Amino acid sequence: MNKEKILGFNVCTNSSETILKNIFKDYMNKNKVVIASLNPEIIIKNYKDKEFIKKINSQKYQIPDGIGIVYASKKQNGKVKKRIAGIDLMQSICAKSVSYNAKIFLYGAKAGVAEKAKQELENTYNNIKIVGTCNGYIEEEKAVEIINKTDAEILFVGLGSPKQEQFIEKYKNSLKNIVIFMPIGGSLDVISKTIKRAPNWMIKRNLEWFYRVLKQPKRIFRHLKLIEFLILVLLNKWKEE
Ligand code: UDP
Repeated sequence: MNKEKILGFNVCTNSSETILKNIFKDYMNKNKVVIASLNPEIIIKNYKDKEFIKKINSQKYQIPDGIGIVYASKKQNGKVKKRIAGIDLMQSICAKSVSYNAKIFLYGAKAGVAEKAKQELENTYNNIKIVGTCNGYIEEEKAVEIINKTDAEILFVGLGSPKQEQFIEKYKNSLKNIVIFMPIGGSLDVISKTIKRAPNWMIKRNLEWFYRVLKQPKRIFRHLKLIEFLILVLLNKWKEE
């Protein structure tokens, strides 16, 4: 993968098509990989934490899941041209999984949501193999047990950040059959239609974050981190390091 550094974090500069192709190469070769999503909030929260950066950077995929990342790249004449929304990549993985007969597990969100998301995905992608679901409020060890009882190979984890990343880090090796791990935040809520995604015109104009603030005003505090991020970007702070 081609990478670029933003505040110390590697970010993939490849197109989503190339990333998708490589994910399925890893699937075929049984290379265990984690697809990390990066947004300004995660970067600001952790850019001084060398251990955290090292962990994220050691992974194969870091997706630019925030318009702030695209902007930061532009400021340094970089190559990240487009945001890749985690939920879009997840759907593309689901679509492509059909021709590989790959088995999927959905873990996270409130009781019943993952099951509803399963039904929605089955309606959308004929012959998709979703071999199990589990809500995100049971003990993690129990979830690992449930996942291990299936023959799932792709695991989507929707526990919110940083819980989902920590879960993957902690149990990656215990989840023996899983090859592809992807943290997905609140995507199961959207896919199950429990929460509505922003209208297309807002997504196209990079206003999805604003829609989510309107729906959940408490999120404004999370987005205030974007201001801190932009200040660092404008100061070209990371180039000094
Ligand atoms: N969640 C969960 N278990 C927990 C905490 C959160 O399953 O212990 C779920 C929650 O129900 C929601 C998702 O994690 O579906 C977090 O969504 P959020 O919108 O906060 O994530 P983001 O997309 O912003 O990372």
